[in-house]
Amino acid sequence: MGTDKIKIVATLGPASRSAATLERLLRAGVDVVRLNLSHGSIEEHQAALAAFHKLRWDLGIHAAAMADLGGPKVRTGVMLEGKSDLADGATCRIESLPVEGTAARFSTTHPGLVDDVSVGDRVLIDDGRIRLRVTHKTDRAVECVCESGGAIGTHKGLNLPDSNVSLSAITDKDGRDLRWALEAGVEYVALSFVRRAADVEALRTAMDEAGRRVPVVVKIETPQAIRSLDEIIATSDAALVARGDLGVEMDVWRIPMIQKDIVRRCRRMGKPVIIATQMLHSMVASPTPTRAEVSDVANAVLDGADAVMLSAESAVGRFPVPSVEMLNRIARDALQFRWASACDAAGPDGLLDQRLYVGHGVDPTRSAVARSAVLIAQDLGAQLIVVWCHSGTTARWVGKYRPLQPVVGLSADETTCHRLALCYGVEPMRVSPAESAGEGASWREVQRRLALRYDLAAGQMMVVVGDPLHPERASNLSIHRIE
Ligand code: PEP
Repeated sequence: MGTDKIKIVATLGPASRSAATLERLLRAGVDVVRLNLSHGSIEEHQAALAAFHKLRWDLGIHAAAMADLGGPKVRTGVMLEGKSDLADGATCRIESLPVEGTAARFSTTHPGLVDDVSVGDRVLIDDGRIRLRVTHKTDRAVECVCESGGAIGTHKGLNLPDSNVSLSAITDKDGRDLRWALEAGVEYVALSFVRRAADVEALRTAMDEAGRRVPVVVKIETPQAIRSLDEIIATSDAALVARGDLGVEMDVWRIPMIQKDIVRRCRRMGKPVIIATQMLHSMVASPTPTRAEVSDVANAVLDGADAVMLSAESAVGRFPVPSVEMLNRIARDALQFRWASACDAAGPDGLLDQRLYVGHGVDPTRSAVARSAVLIAQDLGAQLIVVWCHSGTTARWVGKYRPLQPVVGLSADETTCHRLALCYGVEPMRVSPAESAGEGASWREVQRRLALRYDLAAGQMMVVVGDPLHPERASNLSIHRIE
């Protein structure tokens, strides 16, 4: 189950919501399940989450649920016959009020579209397959010429990469979905189409109004977000490189470099980063991936991602479980290669080259302690790095320095343990409140469990961060030999 260093996020959908498939997914190593609230009903998500909670308990594992809010995604309105063909060079009108749509005249879900776009802006429909350009505006409609045609369907995504979309960062539907997700007990909430740091703050305010705050995963998928990356990452708790919409909103050939840039910035600020979309897309229909997909997953690992994500592969594909197994195989091999090529020169993952980053609210003490723990573990050949956790931030920072050893996050708090399932290399372990308070002989008992779980022999070493007896000594580092 989920003990591999690279974490796996799997989107749940019709192909994976049954308890039987969900169990196989978790056993195959899924660490985080994603509930994509752009699709499916709340009843379906509720049932999937209930099955997940039960399995998590029955299997005795730590895994997280992430609710992914649809955000201000613009869509086409209803088309009269489901879809209608628009030819290259043809013109069309996009109306602000609902109409019975044809290719020549259709509406959108965004009534303010006319005000937001300018003549010359692009309008991209259905993952960018249909490309229009605005030629004229009236009070109630925009007129476009079709630069690349195709069938326009009902409720297809409509991207406006050149325009400032005035829709609120959290739509009314997002507000309802958020209240459900917080009530239902998810560990993470992801926000789509983030454009600025204030969008994350708005989500937190909405959480406060709903009475529960959980960590926010920002989905990076707009040109506006790319322009304010550092501020957005600094405000969030984790990031997701949403290459689907990113590849529509930005030039698709720039994605690999944008991905590397986002990963680098997240690593610098100690924030987990997930690479998503079409990682093994051909496995929606085929039991084996393409060579290019395998390379893509391996490169995400080599870039330094914490996690890789399955979308259609696990939500609607024919091979959800083999997709997870394949991700694991690729990630393990890529990590072996990374270690073999990086260790000689500068320790695991070029550790010594990673300067302490100060800025964007990064706590230099936490970062220095985490980096030192990894260096000591490397120098002494320790078997484990053990971190006493409150919120789990220090364990996440130790993982950021990509040690070869497992990072065991000890916490009495169940939610903290589940959240840590997203962080590279961190293996959560629940301890009792007495153990977490360092009472009596509890450290001896925790060591015994660690020795059992990791097959440690007497005399082997572990580096311990923090001190349960003295919470104020969260930055204490100590070296323990197994007795
Ligand atoms: C994406 O666009 O890549 C993505 C992950 O978001 P969604 O699946 O909601 O389109």
